[in-house]
Amino acid sequence: MAIVVTKFGGTSVGNPERIQNVARRLIALREGGDSIVAVVSAMGDVTDDLLTLAAQISPHPPEREMDMLLATGEQVTIALLAMSIHALGHEAISFTGPQVGIVTDEGHTKAKITEVRAEKVKASLSEGKIVIVAGFQGVTPDGQITTLGRGGSDTTAIAIAAGIDADLCEIYTDVDGVFTADPRIVPDARKIDVISYEEMLEIAATGARVLQLRAVEFARNHGVVIHCRSSFHQGQGTIVREGDDSMEQAIISGVTHDTSEAKVTIRDVPDTPGVAARVFNRLAEANVNVDMIIQNVSEDGRTDISFTVPAEDLTRARQTTAEVAHELSAREWTVDESVAKVSLVGAGMKTHPGVAAQMFTALADADVNLHMISTSSIRISCVISREQTETAVRALHDSFGLANEAVKVEVSPGSTGGDC
Ligand code: ADP
Ligand code: ASP
Ligand code: MG
Repeated sequence: MAIVVTKFGGTSVGNPERIQNVARRLIALREGGDSIVAVVSAMGDVTDDLLTLAAQISPHPPEREMDMLLATGEQVTIALLAMSIHALGHEAISFTGPQVGIVTDEGHTKAKITEVRAEKVKASLSEGKIVIVAGFQGVTPDGQITTLGRGGSDTTAIAIAAGIDADLCEIYTDVDGVFTADPRIVPDARKIDVISYEEMLEIAATGARVLQLRAVEFARNHGVVIHCRSSFHQGQGTIVREGDDSMEQAIISGVTHDTSEAKVTIRDVPDTPGVAARVFNRLAEANVNVDMIIQNVSEDGRTDISFTVPAEDLTRARQTTAEVAHELSAREWTVDESVAKVSLVGAGMKTHPGVAAQMFTALADADVNLHMISTSSIRISCVISREQTETAVRALHDSFGLANEAVKVEVSPGSTGGDC
């Protein structure tokens, strides 16, 4: 008998019929003899609606109260799903994150899980019940309700899977798995059958919502195997696990895009040691996540610094940038919210030269201008104009032939790798 943790996202529980479908699916799994935990998200767009509601009340609500509000979304779903299972004649019990022992730090609205006290889940499973858990929420050691950041129900599921030593964590969603690009933008994107944690981390970090970044980090750190699959049919999805030689070694695994960042530029600051340290220390103190950074060539001992930040951190970034720009006697600072990031991810880049050249050529041929570029050993990202996002993603997907079977890496003897 296996222990399986499942997770159903917002669309998958978006209305009463879909909740009933999930209930039937869970019952079928239980009848197959497995112990089942189901982590669920808020129904449909409920989290977005709650955010809109808060914005109508206050431009900057206290983050503690924001968490109080957002955590209500998932509580509705757990109760309805448990009722649905009962109505079908089976045993289920629902728990909120705090009830089930999801302990977090105090970082309201993007809290990190520090501990999973799994006794309650284990006890209910041993009574034969299907255990339903509210995703996306936890509790601080002193009893404050927290949420885990957008998409955080994925992380709840992985954390519980690790906490109860589950055999598998199944993330059910509204697409068939992880694709070579967002299938809503690239209709001929191909489903990836198996992918390593390493590549999935980059795909999640560069904007593919399909699995939350923290969930993949948690899974890698605790060796939880993920099966990301459709909640609408039984087909096989994508397995995410530790990479090994048996895995398809694609040169490029996928193209991702992220339209949720803004670019901040501070112009004409002194080009002297300590200036960048000052800017980025202040941003770190303000809890702003900085992604890409570029510093221009110095002219007359002065330079420009640009960086990108997530939209959710932009208010804090503006405030801090205004202060630090003033202190450094910068000529001006600006924010550009009309940018996007497109990225190419693939472990084969390590050993396959020319990927960056091909990427830049494909973007140039599509008339896409590059504002910023950054790389890791298995990723190249470019900041471009937001209105060109779809053009850029499709151009890259085509250029690297990702709709076809993956192009395998051929490691030539003596290849040293690391060449983009
Ligand atoms: P859920 O509500 O189930 O958590 P999400 O909306 O968070 O679902 O994530 C699923 C969505 O992720 C898909 O509908 C798809 O549009 C988007 N997506 C972006 N990039 C990818 C990708 N590479 N593969 C699959 N889905 C992707
Ligand atoms: N309901 C939350 C959100 O929309 C968490 C989740 O769905 O994973 O971000
Ligand atoms: Mg999600």
